[in-house]
Amino acid sequence: MSPPQVIDAIPKATAEPWTNKENQASTPAPQAVAEPKIDFNGNYTFAPIKEWEVSRAMSKRYFKDMYERAVSDVVIVGAGSAGLSCAYRLATECPHLKITIIEASVAPGGGCWLGGQLLSAMIVRKPTDQFLTEVGVPFEDEGNYVVVKHAALFTSTILSKVLSLDNVKMFNATAVEDLIVKQDSTGKQRIAGVVTNWTLVSLNHDTQSCSMDPNTITAPVIISFTGHDGPMGAFCAKRIVKSGLVEQLGDMRCLDMGRAEPAIVNRTREVYPGLIVGGMELSELDGANRMGPCFSAMLASGEKAAWTAIDIINNSKIVDGEIVA
Ligand SMILES: Cc1cc2nc3c(=O)[nH]c(=O)nc-3n(C[C@H](O)[C@H](O)[C@H](O)COP(=O)(O)OP(=O)(O)OC[C@H]3O[C@@H](n4cnc5c(N)ncnc54)[C@H](O)[C@@H]3O)c2cc1C
Repeated sequence: MSPPQVIDAIPKATAEPWTNKENQASTPAPQAVAEPKIDFNGNYTFAPIKEWEVSRAMSKRYFKDMYERAVSDVVIVGAGSAGLSCAYRLATECPHLKITIIEASVAPGGGCWLGGQLLSAMIVRKPTDQFLTEVGVPFEDEGNYVVVKHAALFTSTILSKVLSLDNVKMFNATAVEDLIVKQDSTGKQRIAGVVTNWTLVSLNHDTQSCSMDPNTITAPVIISFTGHDGPMGAFCAKRIVKSGLVEQLGDMRCLDMGRAEPAIVNRTREVYPGLIVGGMELSELDGANRMGPCFSAMLASGEKAAWTAIDIINNSKIVDGEIVA
């Protein structure tokens, strides 16, 4: 077999443009452009690109997405194991729905890059192994439960599946700072959207001299999976209590795997009109037990929330992201 043909690197300009008066004329001299070439013998050649092309390629898409997603069908807050499981079920069942994920961290995945105590394996009790099979995550069968060799294998697989679906857009490094609460056409209060900001801005409201106004996304259904209480966590649960929509937080109770997992899944629900809460955030709201490093309930709670959202949407008349009947 003959060796691969090697193309010369991009030829150097004969003179530096800033020293050559002729080159300062309005029409720049055409440059010879080398074909892109894979050559790992010292002559790997990229197709040419301009800096502004990169800027425009990113910003055009980002701001088009922002424009379109200002009205969404469902907003999922938090892209941990529960949020990603919800997005997967919702987006695959309803390809016509615009599903927008808001994730405060730069890296989505929440606490599901490791198992318990920073160990690698992820434990999932049956029958939730069926969800893993559907998503395409391999596991070892241990009888009543299965083991994914590394939690990151679950998170990276489901993340790649979710992000490749046309109806899903994720805005990461973006935090939900507040909820939109409005009266619907019957005069009943409901959660009608989220107030967002880039997380770095959210974290710096107090350090800047001017106030940084947030943005909004209107949607008939918000699903919150912001995890445990923390600087950002359990956000929607805490917000509805603070604003008097719900009386009080139950606070997460001590560990009991047997009670905790079914409680989270079976109580995943619309906690206030327009707002569904699931995952570990629900344990903070309801005062459910924690279950320790067993992820079955997170996955199943995500799925339950998806079915609950589908039910709400199918039974509502929605105009421009607002429920009108
Ligand atoms: C104190 C503590 C106890 C734990 N106990 C358990 C346990 O009992 N059982 C268990 O399974 N796991 C436990 N974990 C581990 C882990 O949190 C969970 O297993 C699991 O990751 C929870 O899944 P989740 O999807 O509900 O939330 P998470 O994986 O925590 O994901 C929440 C996501 O929401 C994002 N987010 C938070 N606030 C906002 C906001 N305002 N706007 C946008 N995004 C936001 C976060 O960045 C994160 O990515 C515990 C962790 C801690 C810190």
